[in-house]
Amino acid sequence: MGLLDQQFNQGGILISRVDELVNWARLSSLWPMGFGIACCAIEMMGAYASQYDLDRIGVFPRPSPRQSDVMIVAGTVTFKMADRLRRLYEQMPEPRYVISMGSCSNCGGPYWQWGYHVVKGVDRIVPVDVYVPGCPPRPESLIGGILKLQEKIRRESLMTPVALERLIAKKKGQPA
Ligand code: SF4
Repeated sequence: MGLLDQQFNQGGILISRVDELVNWARLSSLWPMGFGIACCAIEMMGAYASQYDLDRIGVFPRPSPRQSDVMIVAGTVTFKMADRLRRLYEQMPEPRYVISMGSCSNCGGPYWQWGYHVVKGVDRIVPVDVYVPGCPPRPESLIGGILKLQEKIRRESLMTPVALERLIAKKKGQPA
């Protein structure tokens, strides 16, 4: 049952579960970290521009990992970049999500076979929630990936084992 399914016309009352309300708020205000690491980032910037206007679905880039809840990995992840990328991820507050944008980030892309300097998939460094295929993916594809992430957040439960484990780790001061 959706958040707005039980709305009384005159009284302005709506009934929902806490999970649904929290998830609706979170998915409606996703803040990706504002950074890009190679050519895919140009398409990501295009998605933020007025023609596609990601603001209208609540997505707005933030300049700091501490204010961000989504990392869009847009480009080639080199081994030199890998530990910086992991450090940025660890600086983001929970709950945090990762979108892998483009072939390089998904699996190494054109560097898959011979690129000794390229990590063959950013999921070897950080957990990935959504993969967006393409070289480069168009802004429409990235927007499709963001919509998929929003659907994933909509189905989350505050009491899933993963959320609980993260909460326990946080209370113990351990990295989640
Ligand atoms: Fe560039 Fe293609 Fe790699 Fe994207 S997937 S960073 S466009 S080479």
